[in-house]
Formats: sequence, C-alpha cells, structure tokens
Amino acid sequence: MTPLGALAHRVNICAAALLLAAPVLTAQADAAPPPGVLAPTARAWSALREADLRRDLFAMASPAMRGREGGTLDELKASIWVAAQYATIGLVPMGDDGTWFQWFNMVRTRVSTTASRASIAGRSVGVFRDIIPYNVVPVEAAGRVLWLANPLDTTVDVRGRIVATPVLAPPPATVRVSSYPTRVRFTEAAMAATLRTLSRRGAAAILVVAGDSVGAAFDAIGVQRERGSYDVDRATPRANGASDRVAPPPQAGAGPVPSFLVRGALGESLREQPEAELSIRLERFESPSVNVIAGLRGTDAKLRNEYVLYSSHQDANGVRLLANGDSVLAGADDNGSVSVAQFAAARAFVAQRPKRSVLFVHHGSEERGLLGSRYHSAHPVIPLSQVVAVLNGDMIGRNHPDTAALLGSQPPHRSSIDLVHWAIAANARTGKFVIDTTWDRPTHPEGWYFRSDHVPYARLGVPSLMYTTNLHDDYHTAGDIPERIDYPKLLRITRWMYLTGWYAANAAVRPAVDPGFKLER
Ligand SMILES: [Zn+2]
Repeated sequence: MTPLGALAHRVNICAAALLLAAPVLTAQADAAPPPGVLAPTARAWSALREADLRRDLFAMASPAMRGREGGTLDELKASIWVAAQYATIGLVPMGDDGTWFQWFNMVRTRVSTTASRASIAGRSVGVFRDIIPYNVVPVEAAGRVLWLANPLDTTVDVRGRIVATPVLAPPPATVRVSSYPTRVRFTEAAMAATLRTLSRRGAAAILVVAGDSVGAAFDAIGVQRERGSYDVDRATPRANGASDRVAPPPQAGAGPVPSFLVRGALGESLREQPEAELSIRLERFESPSVNVIAGLRGTDAKLRNEYVLYSSHQDANGVRLLANGDSVLAGADDNGSVSVAQFAAARAFVAQRPKRSVLFVHHGSEERGLLGSRYHSAHPVIPLSQVVAVLNGDMIGRNHPDTAALLGSQPPHRSSIDLVHWAIAANARTGKFVIDTTWDRPTHPEGWYFRSDHVPYARLGVPSLMYTTNLHDDYHTAGDIPERIDYPKLLRITRWMYLTGWYAANAAVRPAVDPGFKLER
C-alpha cells in the first residue's frame, strides 16, 4: 500500500466492535457464479497449499531480500526471484522482448545534499541533520531571521523574510494514531498545523523549530524526507484530469514556500534573530524499476485472446532507520502475501487451464506511488480492451481471522457489479469472510481505495477489485515479518482470489463495466 497515514491502531482495538458495527457485504441473492461455469477440479484446488505459501513468503520477505526497495538493486534481485518462480511453475514470459520484465524509469527529485548548504548565526548547519527541508523546493535566501513566537500571529509582516517559529501542537483529531511511529504521525500533523496559514503569507522560507514532542521523530523524518519525490513519465495520471507527464522540477520562488524542520537545540539561537543563509538545490535523476509479467494461455480458441489480470507488487520499503534492533522493512504482508498467493493461483491454473488466458503482474515501485501499475496500464503488454478483469491484492495475511475488505465493491469505486457478484459468490464458497465495507468508502480517512495498483486500471475503465485484510501496527515497519502472518487465513484468501479469477476466466460473457462508472478523483 502506498503511504498516506494510518488508522491501524484504532481498527485493531475495535475489530470485534467493527465487525458488529460495520456494514458488511454478505452473500447476496444475485451473487452467483457466472452461469455454466463449473467449479475447479480437486486437482486444481490441491495445488493451493499453505506449506507453499509459507515457504515462498519466508523466502520473499527474508532479511536477505533487504526490503526490496523500488528503484534499487534489491528490487531487481527480488524481481529475478519472482520470475524464477513462474518459470518453475510453467508460465510464459510476457514482458519486453520475450522476457519476464517490463522496464521503466522512475524519476526522482530530491534535495541535493552535496550542493545544498545552510548556516545560522554564521555557523554551518547539517542539511537533513540539523535542518530538514520539509518539501522538495529549491531556495536561495539570506538575511536576518524574523522570530515569530506564535505561527498563528497574523499581525507581523513576514513577506520576503526567513521566518523562524516554534512548532504548534496539532489538534488531536488530525494525528493519525496508527502505524508509522506515532511520533512521526504527530510531527506530520504538527507541521501541517504550523504551516497551514503561515505558508500563505509570502515568507521567503519558514524554519519550524522542533519541540520535545517531535524530538525523537526528528531523525526518522530526516531519513524519510531525504528521499524526495518519485514519479514515472508517460504513465496513467495519479488523478482525474492530471497530466501523464512528469512535472518539471519546481523553480526557486515559483513553488510552495520552502519549509524546514529545525532541530530543537537551534531554537535558542533563532530566537536571537541571527543572520541565516539557505542555499537548497535540487537534483533530478532516473533509476530503473521493473514490472514482472507472466502469462498462461487459455484453452478456448476465441476466449483465450482475453485475459484476467492478477496484480501484486514485489517492492517493499527497503532498509531504514534502526528500530528495535532491526532496519529491514521486510514487507511480508505488504505485499509478499499477495505475491505468494499469485504463485499458488498460477499452480492451480496450470493444473486446470481456464478458457481465457491469465496474466500475473508484479508491479515495481508501488510503494513509491503506484509507479509500476501507472506505467503498465499506459503501456500494457496486452491491450486493456482484452483485459476483462483486474484482481489486485494488497496485504492479505493479517488481522481478525474472519474479516477482509473488497475494495471496488460499492459505488463510486465499483467498476463492475458482475465482477463483484462473482467475488461474493466465490467468498461464500471459499473464505466465507465477513467483508467490511467501510474501507471502500470515499470518506474513509485512509483513502484506502486509492492506495494500490488496481487504481490506474480502474481509472482506465477496466473492471477491478482489490482484496485486503487492512492495516495493522506493523504496516511499513520492521515488524512486518513472515512470522506474524496468519497462514490459514492467507490460504483462505488465496482460494477466494483464485476462484474469482476462475469465474472471470471461464464466464461465457465477460464482466460488464457499470454504466457511468468514474472514480471521484
Ligand atoms: Zn502494498
């Protein structure tokens, strides 16, 4: 799941209450398998094994995979390993030039630590060490600091000044209590509260002085912000009406006001309103990332020109700040769980081939902003008009044994009621999960629907669903390890995803797109 914020803690505490309270999607009278489609054979079902899921997940999310970060050698190594699994299973490569791989470049823009410098009261301060550029914006500014004891004080003219101000305590409701160290969430909410009005008053730069409450999160924020922004060119846009091209880097004085988080120890000096100098330069460069694409040819002479597309992402969040003795963000649930489920489904489809063909895609750099799926959906190896359904999964191995969510099952996110009915019918015959519909709502504070790889395909009008067991405390931390996965639950979801795909791959009529379907953003 590409980052936003997180509600996991509250979700975990009241899962049972949620089960009782949340509107659920249970079996519906008209939620039947497509007419005329027989259930898979016992041989196909027996190809879905819990032992395989466990073995593969311990390999994919092992420390040796170093968190498989997008755009790094670790992601490329993991992608080669994923391809090798499909070769063993007996699928065919569907990537570039007969390979398993579809290559694309991620475009990175970040503050250059070699070309940037800053000084306060004539003393040089470390960029990202003592002063963290909070947004990716260049600035050349020098002059006497203006100390603003209260960032909300609008009586002081800050135009063109380097303003220093203490961080504000954020309204409690704006602090997402969940995954990501709470201190990091607190700091993000505090920065938002401090900059909300101040950033619109024409200052040349804003220095926000960290207080004790931010304290320990300072270094984690530094590591996070040092990465800068990520994008991919000529790809499906992030939002309705947005461009498919990467925007040029922001120019000094043209973008948002350059804002900084400053280590608390510098507060005293800044209150003296000393001279300060800021020279923040950006660098933009490309690094390769990759989608892994495997295929299985269907049996029906006509229908095999149409495809069911299974979607996962092979990347995770790499190696980060050491916490609790570990720094590898192994990404077992996110998203090793779905990748290994796809291997299992592929074995079942090899055991009994369906009429339509099946594509298994592992999207690269999902955690960096759905880069792989935005790229593939704009450069599909099979015309999207021949893709009858996208079955995406993200985090399917944790939380209450009987809960799950099916995103894209209700308007405005529902792209095909046919596909939803087949998924509900499949659930009734496999996992029998209580499907929590709250996560699928446009009002959900996590914006969960928009944070995984089905979105670019749905945006282009392909019937799409996402399976998930939702957030948990280990999301995007070193705690997301294979040992904490609920393997019996993972097997039940794998069977659910497989059977939904079996229905879509054998239905006489492909699932129709709901008339008027359009995502809200
Ligand atoms: Zn994910």
